[in-house]
Amino acid sequence: MVLNLGNRVVNNYLLTGEDGHVLIDTGYANGFRGFRKKLAKANIDSKDIKIIFLTHAHDDHAGFLNEALNMTDAMVVLHPKAVEGLKRGQNSFEGGCSGRLAYLFCLILSVFGHGDHRFSPLREEFTGRLVTTDSELFRTMDLPFQVIEAPGHTADQVMLLKDGMLFCADAAMNDFPSIHRVIIWIEDLKQYKRTWDVMQKIDPDIIYPAHGKPFKTADLKKYAPYLDRIRLFPLKRRQ
Ligand SMILES: [Zn+2]
Repeated sequence: MVLNLGNRVVNNYLLTGEDGHVLIDTGYANGFRGFRKKLAKANIDSKDIKIIFLTHAHDDHAGFLNEALNMTDAMVVLHPKAVEGLKRGQNSFEGGCSGRLAYLFCLILSVFGHGDHRFSPLREEFTGRLVTTDSELFRTMDLPFQVIEAPGHTADQVMLLKDGMLFCADAAMNDFPSIHRVIIWIEDLKQYKRTWDVMQKIDPDIIYPAHGKPFKTADLKKYAPYLDRIRLFPLKRRQ
């Protein structure tokens, strides 16, 4: 079963299973209360969350990772490149916004004090619970899903595939201010396009983005030509 324990801004999917649950990402820090409430309402014991699948180290995906680790005994599956970002507690500012509307949106965020994209750095005590996808432990784990690398939005992004459902994180987006399912921030456009090719090749029954409603693979095919028209609008890094 797929539950969405997120909010209007960002989805937090929980894949429930007999042997425990998999939580995909941990929202913005201020989403933790809502997350906990939804968990309780769904009658889910937090100790049954065995895995936190961290798609990438961004403030709206790792916002309450410490709190989630604190309330569970879960291991965190993530790309090795995400570790540094988690310890730093701030998004990378490499790349740029994927269009004028996205750029405007980012400027508005910074006016409202959200421009530094910081989050609580991973606490030292939790570093032993990280399982990077290049580790021996990862290879020996019998995970109930497939991990697919999805660079472009960030270098550290991974997606989760299970039973025809692709949880694509920020490889695509289906909410304001996204146009044509394109995410608003892209670190590397070439890699981003390649990840769209990968998603189309997988051809899942349904794609669950981190932002907005699920959609069909056909949308990617329809909008892929638009990717060639994208140019990036960099933002100045705020310290
Ligand atoms: Zn992101």
